[in-house]
Amino acid sequence: MRIEQNKVVTFNYRLREEGGPELENNYDTVPMVYLHGHGNLLAGLEDALSGLAVGESKTITLPPEQAYGQRRENANQRIPIKHIASKHKRLLPGMLIKVSTENGLMNAKVVKPGKFMVEVDTNHPFAGKTLVFDVTITEVRDATAEEIAHRHVHGPGGHHH
Ligand code: ZN
Repeated sequence: MRIEQNKVVTFNYRLREEGGPELENNYDTVPMVYLHGHGNLLAGLEDALSGLAVGESKTITLPPEQAYGQRRENANQRIPIKHIASKHKRLLPGMLIKVSTENGLMNAKVVKPGKFMVEVDTNHPFAGKTLVFDVTITEVRDATAEEIAHRHVHGPGGHHH
């Protein structure tokens, strides 16, 4: 069975910056599961996985404009420490944190910690990077009618209602 519209796909990946170190992988955590053809992944990644079958691997390179965009200048903000959603004993420059905003959680990087306020860089941590995904497909199955109606996967790795 090959990956096409309305297949549920499970895969492992390693992600690195082109010419740089590994940024993350999911081999030590949970497999990535998604419903193909519904915009649940970065578009360039989803396109590149089309047609693959279980056991196949592929290296996919996405420039910033197909991934998380270019870095924005003047993206630094001062926020109250109490708005930081992730728990850290001590904030250090360079640390990646999540900030509570009116629109939900936002990724940010600590620039300059203070006692009550912290200066953060609100660019996505992967902004400006050319990303290289090494992907291996571990499962492909037909989606259920309910999954297609909801446009996401149910069960392990997916949504629970
Ligand atoms: Zn659902």
